[in-house]
Amino acid sequence: MSCLFCAIAAGEIPSKKVYEDELVYAFYDIDPQAPTHFLVIPKEHIPSCAAITAENASVAAHCLEVIARVTKKLGISDFRVVSNCGAQAGQSVPHLHFHVLAGRDMTWPPG
Ligand code: AMP
Ligand code: ZN
Repeated sequence: MSCLFCAIAAGEIPSKKVYEDELVYAFYDIDPQAPTHFLVIPKEHIPSCAAITAENASVAAHCLEVIARVTKKLGISDFRVVSNCGAQAGQSVPHLHFHVLAGRDMTWPPG
């Protein structure tokens, strides 16, 4: 199976790393939608939030813990976390990822 984010997490496709541990990888979005915009992904292939189960939920929770830690380290207190799930919601890469956006005013509801 060829998956863009699996290849990025494996270092087969270059990316600008923000954070890495044995379970997750974080890197700057190639098309930033805010002054700070990075993605946090599990290294394990999970297609989207819709595929989170009791068995893999701990890595999704770990992504959120990493977001809290990395934003603190970057000095970011206000930020938005987004995970698009499915084409209608705007998901273009079918590997679970959390967008972290910061550095500008955000509107609500999102478009
Ligand atoms: P989504 O549209 O929610 O599935 O988010 C996918 C995100 O991945 C988009 O914001 C893209 O800009 C980003 N993206 C696609 N290819 C790359 C890449 N090679 N490196 C970094 N970010 C990427
Ligand atoms: Zn994948």
